[in-house]
Amino acid sequence: MNRQELLDHLQDFLSVSNYQDYAPNGLQIEGKATISKIVTGVTACQALIDAAIAEKADAILVHHGFFWKGEDPCIVGIKQKRIQGLLNNNINLLAYHLPLDGHATLGNNARLGQVLGLTNMAAISGVAQGLVWKGELPSAMSAVAFGEHISERLARAPLVLGDHQKAMKTVAWCTGGAQDYIDIAARFGVDAFISGEASERTFHTANELDIVYFGAGHHATERYGIEALGEHLAATFGLEHVFIDINNPV
Ligand SMILES: [Zn+2]
Repeated sequence: MNRQELLDHLQDFLSVSNYQDYAPNGLQIEGKATISKIVTGVTACQALIDAAIAEKADAILVHHGFFWKGEDPCIVGIKQKRIQGLLNNNINLLAYHLPLDGHATLGNNARLGQVLGLTNMAAISGVAQGLVWKGELPSAMSAVAFGEHISERLARAPLVLGDHQKAMKTVAWCTGGAQDYIDIAARFGVDAFISGEASERTFHTANELDIVYFGAGHHATERYGIEALGEHLAATFGLEHVFIDINNPV
């Protein structure tokens, strides 16, 4: 398909214009104009780019692309190598950050809730752009037991902070580096909050708010949205799609 047709579809499907983001959403590096094979992955790291070159992909779609706000804009060092690999092989780089987190059915938050088997899922109203969600556990269980459930579903043991014996039924979550949304979760009276990464302060916040915090991995919580987006594009436009999971323990 024509690249512009793909970009127009994604702009609309992900409601990109509703978001104010820290990086450009959409086409970040221009490659060939016709796209038949896409590779998806979480982060546009060198390993993903090398794998996409080996796959002879026409485009790479990622959640974490390039050109973050506040970053040194010079194209030197590892950034030069990554971009050179894309340009030399005429591969497009498309990145969707917050619009992919927030999408109602295949965004990172929606997909994480589905993978964890949560019920009554909804974006918390009043929180911009659907970035914090809440739901219920399939049954009441202790924080320790829910930690084991997360570990099993995501194939990665979470960091658990707060009262490990607390009986839990309700949970809020936001994937990735969203640890400070724990305050929002507490205001909605849930028993627990899940994000990707924790900070030093998260330990004290969880204890003082009496909310159990699960640090389930930035990569691990954001693996599902971009894969689902690739599957959506394959089903909608007949594109060939390969999801490549470059493991990252953080
Ligand atoms: Zn992220």
